[in-house]
Amino acid sequence: MGLERPGLALANLASLPHISAAGAIATGTHGSGDHNQGLASAVLALELVDADGELRELSRDADPVLFPGAVVALGALGVVTELTLAVEPAYDVSQRVHLGLSLERLAADFDAVFASGYSVSAFTSWDPDRAAVWVKHRTGAAEPAGSVAGAVPATTPQHPIGGMPAHNCTAQLGEPGPWHDRLPHFRAAFTPSRGDELQSEYLLPREQAATAIARLRALGPRLAPLLHTSEIRTVAADDLWLSPAYRRDSVAFHFTWIADPTAVAPLLASIEDALLPLGARPHWGKLFSCTPEQLDRAVPRLRDFAALAQDFDPKGKFRNDLLATWLPASQA
Ligand SMILES: Cc1cc2nc3c(=O)[nH]c(=O)nc-3n(C[C@H](O)[C@H](O)[C@H](O)COP(=O)(O)OP(=O)(O)OC[C@H]3O[C@@H](n4cnc5c(N)ncnc54)[C@H](O)[C@@H]3O)c2cc1C
Repeated sequence: MGLERPGLALANLASLPHISAAGAIATGTHGSGDHNQGLASAVLALELVDADGELRELSRDADPVLFPGAVVALGALGVVTELTLAVEPAYDVSQRVHLGLSLERLAADFDAVFASGYSVSAFTSWDPDRAAVWVKHRTGAAEPAGSVAGAVPATTPQHPIGGMPAHNCTAQLGEPGPWHDRLPHFRAAFTPSRGDELQSEYLLPREQAATAIARLRALGPRLAPLLHTSEIRTVAADDLWLSPAYRRDSVAFHFTWIADPTAVAPLLASIEDALLPLGARPHWGKLFSCTPEQLDRAVPRLRDFAALAQDFDPKGKFRNDLLATWLPASQA
C-alpha cells in the first residue's frame, strides 16, 4: 500500500490492525465515525486476476459505473493483486474511554455522543444497561471537557471485554499517538478482542438507532450470557453496491459472542427479527442467519452484483457454497 512510507495515513481503520487490506475491503470492513466511510471507500483503483487468468484493472475514474460494484466483492470477481488507496497526511489521535453511560441516555443523546469525537464506539453487554464510550480525537480538535452525556472519563486503561488485559489495547487516557496506533482498539502485536469468539454485525439507517437500541435492550437478558461484548458505531454512507452503508449514513451493532455457534444461532434469529424490519444489513465477514430472500430484500444492489459476478466469472471458478447461497443469480 505504500503506507510504510512516513507521512501518509488512511482516514480510518477497523478495530484491529491484524487483517489484510484485501480481505477487509472485500467484506466491507469499517471503523467508526459520523463522517468516516468504510475502508473500501478509500479504494481508488484495483487490479485483479480474473477467472481466465487475465489481469484486469479497474478504477473509479475510468470505470465509474462498474467500479462501485467491484470493490466490496467477496472474492467473487477474482484475486485482487493490487489496491490503490486514497491517503492523507499522517495525523495523531488521542483516545479516552468514558464509563457508565446508561443505554437510555445513549439512545436519547445518540447524535451528541457520536459527535463527541472523530471516531466513537460504545461498548455494552446490554445487561447491565450501561455502556463505555471510546472517544478518539484527531489531535488539534477540541476534546470534550469532563463527561460525555454524563459518562465519566476512566482513570485507568480499559479493554472492551471484561477480564481481558488493557495492555492488549492501544494507549488511552488522552495520550496522543500515530493514527494507526490509536484508531484501532487493539495493538498489532497482541491478541485482538477475545481471540476465541464468534462475531455478528448489522448496519441500519442511522435514524433507526434509538428504536434499535430499545429492541436490543429488550433482548438484553438473553444476549448478555453469550456475549463477550457488543459495540455500537456510526458509519458514513458510500456508493459501493455491497457495502452495508450503501447510500445511507448508518448505525452499526456488532456482537462478539462466545465460541458456541449452537447457542448463538437462536439469538441471531431473534436479533434479525428485531432489526431486519428496521432495514438492517448484515456484515459480510461475520455470522448472520438471513435467508436468501431476506438478504435480497436487505441489500439493494445484490442482484446487480450477482450479474457482475456472472459476467466476470461465468463458470463460477470463484464461487463457493456460501456465495451460491447469497447471490440470487446463482440460485437458479
Ligand atoms: C478480532 C476481530 C475484530 C474485527 N473488527 C472489525 C471491525 O472493527 N470492523 C469490521 O467491519 N470488521 C471487523 N472484523 C471483521 C474483519 O474485518 C473481516 O472478517 C475481514 O474480512 C477480515 O480480514 P482478513 O484479512 O482476515 O480477511 P480474510 O478472511 O482473509 O478474507 C475475507 C474474504 O475476503 C476475500 N478476499 C481476501 N483476500 C482477497 C484477495 N486478495 N482478492 C479477492 N478477495 C479476497 C475472500 O472472499 C475472503 O473470504 C473483525 C474481525 C476480528 C476477528
